[in-house]
Amino acid sequence: MYDVIVIGGGPAGLNAAMLLGRSRRKVLLFDGGKPRNRWSRSMNGFLTSDGMNPREFIQRGRAELEKYSVEIKDIEVASATYSKGQFVVNDAGGTVYRSRKLLLATGLKDNWPEVEGFEEFYGRSVHHCPYCDGWESRDKPIAVYGKDRSGIGQALAMKNWSDDVTLFTDGTDKLQRADLELLELNGIKVVKGKIDRLEGEDGMLQHIALKNGERVPQQVLFFSEGARQQSDLGEMLGCEFTSKGVVKTRRKQQSNIPGLYVAGDAARDMQMVIVAAAEGAKAGVAINMDLQQEDRKRVPEAERHM
Ligand SMILES: Cc1cc2nc3c(=O)[nH]c(=O)nc-3n(C[C@H](O)[C@H](O)[C@H](O)COP(=O)(O)OP(=O)(O)OC[C@H]3O[C@@H](n4cnc5c(N)ncnc54)[C@H](O)[C@@H]3O)c2cc1C
Repeated sequence: MYDVIVIGGGPAGLNAAMLLGRSRRKVLLFDGGKPRNRWSRSMNGFLTSDGMNPREFIQRGRAELEKYSVEIKDIEVASATYSKGQFVVNDAGGTVYRSRKLLLATGLKDNWPEVEGFEEFYGRSVHHCPYCDGWESRDKPIAVYGKDRSGIGQALAMKNWSDDVTLFTDGTDKLQRADLELLELNGIKVVKGKIDRLEGEDGMLQHIALKNGERVPQQVLFFSEGARQQSDLGEMLGCEFTSKGVVKTRRKQQSNIPGLYVAGDAARDMQMVIVAAAEGAKAGVAINMDLQQEDRKRVPEAERHM
C-alpha cells in the first residue's frame, strides 16, 4: 500500500511528488509521457528556467526526485476507483496498486483548428497562449484563428504584442457589424476566406493559403479552440467539473471526493507551468498534512480531563 499515488508526471505531478518525497511518504508516480507542451521547444515565463526546453525541464525534475522515496512508472493508468478509504489503481498492463491518497495531475489536451498543416507548425509558430509565446512573436505579423466571435477577444489581446494583427474567420460569417467596427477601430484586419492550408518551412509559418488561391503572408498564428481533459480518470472517480471542463478544487487542491486531490491544468486555475508546479506543491503539502492528522496518536477522551 502506497501513501500516495500521483497520476501524471508533468510539472504538477513532479512537484507534488517532490514535496511528498521530502515528507518521507511512500509515493508512486505514473506517467504516460504526453505533457501538454510537448510540441514546444521553449518553456517561457518560468523564473530561472525561462526559455528552457520543456523536455529538459521534465528530465531535470525526474532527476531531482531520485534521492526521494518516489517510484516512477512510465505507463498509463487505465482506471482508478475509491472504496472503503482506499484508492485502487489499475495500470494499462493490468497491474493493481493501492494507496491511501490519490493525486490527479493528468493535464489537458488542446482542441486544434481543422486546418491542413497545423501540426507541422504547432509549438514553433502556431500557439494558443500569448503569455507563453507572445513575446517571441512581438512586432511580427500575427494571425489569429477564430471561426466564431471568440476570435475577437484574442485578436484584440494580440495588439499588446504587435500592431500587425489579422483575424482569419476561415470561411465563416459570424461577425456582426459592431464587431467589424470594433476590429477596424483597433486596427485589426479581417480575412474571411476559407483556409486551404498553412505553408512554411521547418515549422516556421510563411503563408496562410486560402481556398480561393490567395496566399496571405504571415509569420505567427494564435488560436483558442478550448481544451479537454487528457484523461477520463476524474470523471471515473466522480469529480465535479466546472463549465469549462476542469475539476472543481478547493484551496488546497482537494476535490469533492475524500482523499482525492487534483492539481495543474486538469484543475481550475491559470494554465501555465509555474502555476501547475505550484498547485502540485500545494497538493503535496495538503496530502501530507491530512496523513499526519490521520496517523496522529491522540490522548483518549477520558484521560484528557484528569
Ligand atoms: C504548445 C504549448 C506551449 C506551451 N508553452 C508554455 C510556456 O511557454 N510556458 C508555460 O508556462 N506554459 C506553457 N504551456 C502550458 C503548459 O504546457 C501547461 O500549463 C503545463 O504542462 C501543465 O502541467 P500539468 O502537470 O498540469 O500537465 P501536463 O504537463 O500536461 O502533464 C500531464 C501528464 O499526465 C500524464 N497523464 C495523463 N493521463 C494519464 C494517465 N491516465 N496515466 C498516466 N499518465 C497520464 C501525461 O502523459 C502527461 O505527462 C504550453 C502549452 C502548449 C500546448
